[in-house]
Amino acid sequence: KLAKLPYVKTIEEFEFDFQPSVDERRIKELMTLAFVNRSENVILLGPPGVGKTHLAVGLAVHALKNRHTAYFLSAHELIGIIKDNIRSGRISRKIKTLQKPDVLIIDEVGYQAMEAEVAHYFFQIVSERYEKGSIILTSNKSYGQWGEVFGDHVVATAILDRLLHHSTTINIKGDSYRIKEKKKAGFYD
Ligand code: ADP
Ligand code: MG
Repeated sequence: KLAKLPYVKTIEEFEFDFQPSVDERRIKELMTLAFVNRSENVILLGPPGVGKTHLAVGLAVHALKNRHTAYFLSAHELIGIIKDNIRSGRISRKIKTLQKPDVLIIDEVGYQAMEAEVAHYFFQIVSERYEKGSIILTSNKSYGQWGEVFGDHVVATAILDRLLHHSTTINIKGDSYRIKEKKKAGFYD
C-alpha cells in the first residue's frame, strides 16, 4: 500500500473548533474519496502549525483504509530524489514510479526554493499525474508566491495550471496548534 507517513493522525482527531477557517463540510466531502476516484487534487495552504500535514495525513490514512494506494513525500525529500535521479540517469523511470500511487502527497512545498532543473521535473511529475492520479499538496506559500518557490514564473504557472484545473484548495488562516499546546502547558507564562 506504500505510505511512508511522517506520523499517523486521523481526520476524527482534528479539532475543527480550533481552526474555524477549515470548513468541516468540505473535509467531510473529501472523506467520500470522490476526489481520488476522479483523480482530483487537494491543496492545503497556510502558515506553520495550522494542521496542513495532519489533514493531508488524515486523508491519506482514510484513502489507505479504503484500499487506495498512497505515497507520502516531503518536498525536501522529493527535491533530493529528483536530484539523485538526474545524476544517476534514472529520472524518467522515477517519474513513472511516481505515477503509480492513487494519491501522491507532497508536503511542505515552499520551504525550500527549487533550481530550474528540479522545478522542470516537478512540473513533469504534476503533468504526468494530471487527470490520472490525485495529488495532495501542502504549502506555506500563497499561489502568488509560487514563482519564487519554483524560481520561475512560467514554470510555476504551468504547474498551477495542471494542479488547479480539478482541485480543492483549503486555505487555513489561524493560530498554530503547536503554540496553543505550549500555551496550555504554561510555556509562555
Ligand atoms: P502544519 O500546518 O505545519 O503541517 P501540522 O498539521 O503538522 O501543521 O500540525 C502540527 C501539530 O498540531 C500536529 O501534531 C497536528 O496533529 C496538530 N494539530 C494541528 N491542528 C490541529 C487541530 N485543529 N486539531 C488537532 N490537532 C491539530
Ligand atoms: Mg506540515
